[in-house]
Amino acid sequence: MRLTTAALPFLSSAAALRSSSNGESAQPAIVPKRVAIIGAGAAGSSAAYHLAQFAQDSGIPLQIDVFERNWHIGGRSTTINPWFDPDQAIELGASIFVDVNHILVNATKAFNLSTNNRENLLANIPEVGIWNGKELVFTMNEGGWWDLAKLFWRYGYAPVKANKLMRETVDKFLQMYERPHFPWRSLSDVVQLVGLTEATGLTGEQYMQNKGIAPKFANEIVQASTRVNYASNLGTIHGVEAMVCLATNGAMSIAGGNWRIFEHMLSSSDYISTHLNHTIAQISKQADGTYNLTSIAGRVSSFDEVILAAPLQFSNLVIDPAPEHTPDEIPYVKLHVTHFTTPHKLDPLAFGLEADKPVPEYVLTTLQVDEDYGSKPNVGRAGFFSISIVSSGVNVHASKPRSEYIYKIFSPKRIDYQFLSRVLGLQVSKEEAEKGDVDGTISWINHWDVHSYPYEYPRVTFDEIKLDEGLWYTSAIESFISTMETSALSGKNVAQLIVNEWNKQAGESSNGEDMKIEANWDSNPWNNAQKPIKDDL
Ligand SMILES: Cc1cc2nc3c(=O)[nH]c(=O)nc-3n(C[C@H](O)[C@H](O)[C@H](O)COP(=O)(O)OP(=O)(O)OC[C@H]3O[C@@H](n4cnc5c(N)ncnc54)[C@H](O)[C@@H]3O)c2cc1C
Repeated sequence: MRLTTAALPFLSSAAALRSSSNGESAQPAIVPKRVAIIGAGAAGSSAAYHLAQFAQDSGIPLQIDVFERNWHIGGRSTTINPWFDPDQAIELGASIFVDVNHILVNATKAFNLSTNNRENLLANIPEVGIWNGKELVFTMNEGGWWDLAKLFWRYGYAPVKANKLMRETVDKFLQMYERPHFPWRSLSDVVQLVGLTEATGLTGEQYMQNKGIAPKFANEIVQASTRVNYASNLGTIHGVEAMVCLATNGAMSIAGGNWRIFEHMLSSSDYISTHLNHTIAQISKQADGTYNLTSIAGRVSSFDEVILAAPLQFSNLVIDPAPEHTPDEIPYVKLHVTHFTTPHKLDPLAFGLEADKPVPEYVLTTLQVDEDYGSKPNVGRAGFFSISIVSSGVNVHASKPRSEYIYKIFSPKRIDYQFLSRVLGLQVSKEEAEKGDVDGTISWINHWDVHSYPYEYPRVTFDEIKLDEGLWYTSAIESFISTMETSALSGKNVAQLIVNEWNKQAGESSNGEDMKIEANWDSNPWNNAQKPIKDDL
């Protein structure tokens, strides 16, 4: 196999032109570029998928090793099984993406994955209500003209204005996918260039006020959405992220779990090897510019480029020496996600309703008018961010199989038996609230504490993407927008930046000779540290 001269610079930095041992000049070996990706979530999977594609398009041989400390692909996009039933999978983390999420939507089509469409979801969630700890300030059946009339009656033109502002924000954001902006070397610069700095620099409250959107609509409807999506009130989330919370058109999820997109991305190319249950402990830059990665088991492997596709502050990594840019440690939401199953509906009395009125199946929350939503995170009197019926199923483990609802709660504190007893209007024991009881009020329960996303405080600058020569970072994007799509975009952006650099080096150092490729590496990444270059070509 032969390559054009463009391949010459893709000699690994460890690979040099050598003479053979008998003194005759040997044809130089081209060692594929070796890239390590730490993290197999949306960002790392997308980086691997796009890097393989871009490199192939440029005729660049490479080996990508993706290291993931969990046993599963997807990171914060993962599923659980109610009643421990493997046939029932519901989203534990990231549950929804939308039709303007081009990377995820295109991958869904490319991999022929089935979606749970909006109709399916709505069939399970026919009613939405907004609870402020005292009363339901707004309830809505999805889609009917009567609900639109109710919206106008209560909020005037604010919903129309907010919708227009959301669409303008999305249009600006989508420029980040296209030339001349894509790929961007600096997130701070591109956010400014596409015209979104005004919105990231203000709180959602200030931004909407500046745009003439009535505070009542902002506080009740938009804030209910920022609380369910980012556990934040309008005074502690920036304007772009507040608009993202309104961009719900074409909401969808993947049957079996959104993580399947990322699984397919990682198996899309022979260039990519994924190593699950592999925790990287240290990244060490070498004198020749390559990086040694050390696993917690003490194994070392060498790479030309490293992509850190996880928030540095939660990765337990030592980077030695400190890179030129070290990402700031930023406050993350510590969210409690509770899923549980029960045959019972929520108790109307717990939500200020008369006993015969049904509680909406999707209860979002907001603050009362006298509550502080500006200075710091504050769940307020409502006490939780949302409680919803996400699905239903049959509990076959009960002594007599029974139909049950599957609920999800987002809250700032762990959900206990008192909370569950109150919202269901039934006695729930401590043990049931911790572990469930197949024949009890709570038949199955799962508690998950997670650093879910950053507090999206207003800001106009963001962390660097290139931390050092050959060291890249995807998670800077999370303080701009934290979603599966934006992480996937960040991974794609890094992939394009790396390939552009390789192509540039190729242009600079081409000497006009065709080169012979030598697949001079072991598919086991741990065998490659200090690997000697073959001389006998
Ligand atoms: C409860 C919840 C609900 C959400 N809802 C939505 C939603 O509806 N829609 C949406 O788009 N987004 C949602 N999000 C946000 C979304 O999940 C994230 O923005 C996105 O998944 C982040 O992807 P990532 O790849 O950047 O990071 P992660 O998913 O965190 O992936 C990083 C990976 O790196 C691995 N890792 C870290 N350190 C190491 C190491 N030292 N060695 C090896 N591996 C390492 C981790 O194990 C992890 O798998 C939600 C998040 C949560 C928690």
